[in-house]
Amino acid sequence: MNRLLLSLLLMFSGFTLLFAQEIEIDRSLPEFSFNELNLAGQMHFLASDFLEGRRTGSRGNVIAAEYIAAQLRAYGYAPINGDSYFQPVNLMQTAAPATGQLMVEDLTFTQQADLLVMRGPAAAAEGNVVFANYGWVDAETDHNDYEDLNVKGKIVITRAGIPGDISQAGIFRGVSEKAAMAAEAGAIAIFEVYSLPFPWTAFKGYLGGERMGLDNGSPATAIPYGFIKVQDDFIASLARKKKGLRGSVASSGMVVKKVRSMNVGGILTGTDEKLKEEYMIVSAHFDHVGVGKQGGGAFTEQDSIFNGARDNAFGTISLLASARAFAERPTRRSIVMLAVTGEEMGLLGSKWYAEHPLVPLEKTVFNFNTDGAGYDDTSAISLIGANRTGIDGEVAAAAAAFGKKVIEDPAPEQGLFDRSDNVSFAIKGIPALSFSPGITGFSDELFKYYHQVTDNPETIDMTYLKEYCQAFTLAARLIADRDVRPRWIDGDKYKAAADKLYGKK
Ligand SMILES: [Zn+2]
Repeated sequence: MNRLLLSLLLMFSGFTLLFAQEIEIDRSLPEFSFNELNLAGQMHFLASDFLEGRRTGSRGNVIAAEYIAAQLRAYGYAPINGDSYFQPVNLMQTAAPATGQLMVEDLTFTQQADLLVMRGPAAAAEGNVVFANYGWVDAETDHNDYEDLNVKGKIVITRAGIPGDISQAGIFRGVSEKAAMAAEAGAIAIFEVYSLPFPWTAFKGYLGGERMGLDNGSPATAIPYGFIKVQDDFIASLARKKKGLRGSVASSGMVVKKVRSMNVGGILTGTDEKLKEEYMIVSAHFDHVGVGKQGGGAFTEQDSIFNGARDNAFGTISLLASARAFAERPTRRSIVMLAVTGEEMGLLGSKWYAEHPLVPLEKTVFNFNTDGAGYDDTSAISLIGANRTGIDGEVAAAAAAFGKKVIEDPAPEQGLFDRSDNVSFAIKGIPALSFSPGITGFSDELFKYYHQVTDNPETIDMTYLKEYCQAFTLAARLIADRDVRPRWIDGDKYKAAADKLYGKK
């Protein structure tokens, strides 16, 4: 065979084959004899109606956590948190005030209709209404909209967004920071003028609904804050009145409820004298969205439970399958098994762990996450975050060992890497990615089940579940057994965070 032909053949056969040949695989490993019925049994429990969609903070969520802890205990894992397999995660659920009103001269804005007070305590106060451009303070760029403006005891109206950025991202930065800036300047309330390119109803449904976040003990927003919907000339006429217009503000106050949930974890010490000082986090979220209108999708009286079989009982079961296999045949590096809560609420459980790690982050060399939002190709697995951390060979070899190909970063437009728990670790610098079921894109087959009441155990291909668990376990094992730890490739956006965490090398 001539060299040109050889290289052509290699090109068309793909790198999978090459990698698969480079890594020797021991077929007596426990993952080669996984039992489909065992895994199907776990699926029927974790995604049963009885667990009511495992919504963060709900009874079903706690039952799932207890089940996972019981399994880790049975496999011989050491508890992750002192003598406990649980890490409490403190959350805060907030909702917009039920009633609110803003008056500006003879104009009245009413909560929901053309006003959305989103945050702040109960209030009822009079004060002049003044315009403060963006209401933004940034010491770095020397920008201060309150510099020559007295807003003490006044109600502040601003443009939406921040200077130089009125995109959605800028608006969201404003939402999280502007109220504090106005309060600091002495204002008694602040409202941004609504100017986003989608309907007010959709906006207030999104930002005015219940939200959950981490409870870091930080104080709630000090003054009423939100958005108003105004006529086009409102800003111009307000800006002309330097001393402001007469006004008043009233709000029944943001509704705050503390929610308790937990991450679940266990530790297995590695076999290599040196490498066991390095930890790999294997993670999967076990929460889902709940029941009825909590779920967001369509539901009926006959079926209102969002079972989350794919999302993410699938991943949770693969985590447990790997946990069991590693207990039987340990890896060289140590393993942290971490089932996280709150993913559906904004990656809250993984964020909490990354802020309150139970194994030092600088000793944590990799995060292998699994998130099973769905699948439409059972001949494959997907790798979200391919070609970034140097472990692609191990993943390809593991997938090939069970007859699967690897789909690299499907649906790039969905920004999946930044939408799953792996990103909470990546932000800290830890090389991280998500191993997911085979998806070719956000196809109709995917949407048929994604966050729908139809995502139940009866619709799962259990043979695929088994093969997925096998490939996942072997891939995790090959990574945990590598001679060299994974690293972000040069130029990756998380490389700088890694240099900071581990020290520059
Ligand atoms: Zn989901």
